[in-house]
Amino acid sequence: MYEGAVQDLIDELGRLPGIGPKSAQRIAFHLLSAESVDVERFAATLIRVKNEVRFCRICGNVAEADECRICRDTRRDLSIICVVEEPKDVVAVERTREFRGRYHVLGGAISPIDELMTRLADGVVTELILATDPNLEGEATATYLARLVRPMGIAVSRLASGLPVGGDLEYADEVTLGRALSGRRRVE
Ligand SMILES: [Zn+2]
Repeated sequence: MYEGAVQDLIDELGRLPGIGPKSAQRIAFHLLSAESVDVERFAATLIRVKNEVRFCRICGNVAEADECRICRDTRRDLSIICVVEEPKDVVAVERTREFRGRYHVLGGAISPIDELMTRLADGVVTELILATDPNLEGEATATYLARLVRPMGIAVSRLASGLPVGGDLEYADEVTLGRALSGRRRVE
């Protein structure tokens, strides 16, 4: 529809999740009319995120070093791990301020289940909270993990109900998610 770079930009934006053709066009023209310095900063940030951000070798969260900020924090409780699907779920749980343990991010690892089992093997962790998304896939993952982990003598709990069913963890407000976390129930 447009010539050259403008159309290329619209096409690139349109490949992003949640951005339809109209939004892609609106963002492209916004960038076209923005100050050069702002667009350059934006472009530099895009390059930086690919070059500098990696995944924490312990938990799979996004990190700017070998280990993420949370795994490096010595005040965190090492005996409890909260299993989430994506780094954005770590942010959602952190916002509740209800959790002082560490995380295991399934989406940030090549073989996330194996890596979780390795972490649980040394006996330090006594409780695993399964905070996968409240949809069919998340439930299936939680059930599978519970079956795998319970024989190791680790307490396994699942977030309490009350979360919007079928959605992503990140869509729950922090009060609802905080309640679901503090009211977590043991998986028997
Ligand atoms: Zn980490």
